[in-house]
Formats: sequence, structure tokens, C-alpha cells
Amino acid sequence: MKTFQKKPKPDTGSSTRTRLCVACRSLQPPHNLMRLRVNGEGVLVPDPKAMYPGRSAWICFKKSCVNRLLKKPNVLRHRLKRPVPRLDGLPDAILAHIDAQILIAIRHCWRSGLVISGAQATKQDRIRSNILVVAIAKDASSKHIQQNYSTKFVFNIELSKINIGRCINKGPRAVVGFLEGAPTSHLLRWLQRRSTLR
Ligand SMILES: [Zn+2]
Repeated sequence: MKTFQKKPKPDTGSSTRTRLCVACRSLQPPHNLMRLRVNGEGVLVPDPKAMYPGRSAWICFKKSCVNRLLKKPNVLRHRLKRPVPRLDGLPDAILAHIDAQILIAIRHCWRSGLVISGAQATKQDRIRSNILVVAIAKDASSKHIQQNYSTKFVFNIELSKINIGRCINKGPRAVVGFLEGAPTSHLLRWLQRRSTLR
């Protein structure tokens, strides 16, 4: 008689355990997914820091996954063990959370001395090779948007020139660059999540 021996799973710790996207059913590390819960009004909302107990669902930072969930919300019934919640505000709620994180990350970069402010400064040869991320205000003129930057991480962000300037305690800024560093890598992750949800 054949016996099947289960291979012991490597102990990777809870922080690296994978989670299932409720929409595409792919297994992902938690940082690739947004945690969702049902609030007191029966609406599905982001719960990224797992602040609330109870059942939750996870979803990729992808527009295709959010759309798939909106089309087939019944998958949540099994996952959450409760009637299907309302999902109407979900895309905006996820985007609002990400935009708030981007603001926080920009301020963090600024406090860490990683921000190069303004179009002129980001073009200087001495500096531009060290810039990892370029952010362009939503109301910047097209000459800024079409400019060639040496980094591939150029993002048009949902902040006006005035609001970008406020983040870094300056006047309006159409373009800001971010030098390499841990806070910039953190900002980059949120900007990439935002771009896959567009
Ligand atoms: Zn997915």
C-alpha cells in the first residue's frame, strides 16, 4: 500500500504567508493585496491595517480584479460568511486610501531630504542620474509631462502643483524628483499600486 507523506511546510512566519485574491484567486504575499472588510452599514471597505476583527477578503491592486469583483460579488458570500455587501464605493475608497498613502510617503521623503523640487533642479545632470522617481502634478503643463527623464519611474499623480508644494513646504511645484532611499522605494510601491488601478 502506498503511503503519502506530506512534506512539512517551511516555516516562513506569518508576515510572508500568502493570501488569496477574492477576484482572480491568485495567491500573493499580503503586500500585493488590499484587505477588505464589511463596515456597520453593510458596505465593503478597505481595511489595510486590519484594524477591525472578523472575516475579511483580499484583492489585488489591479483594475481587472476590482472590476471582476464588482461584476461577481457573490464570491464574497462564501469568503465573508454573510450576505453580499454593497460594493458601489469600493474603487473610489481604494484609490482614496492609496492617494492618502502617497501624500504621507511624499512628506516622509521630504523629511528624509530625498526630494528634488522643481523642473529645473530635476534636469541638472549632477542630480538627475540619482533620481529614482519623478512625480508630475495633475495640472502641470504638457511640456513637463513630455520631458524625458532618465528614470523609468515617472508618474502623473493626483495632486495639483499647489498640493505638491504644500507637501514639501514650498510654493507650487509641477515636478518633483525623489532620490534613491527607503522612503522613496515606499513611495514607489504606492505609485505603482495606483497605476495598476487606473
Ligand atoms: Zn487578483
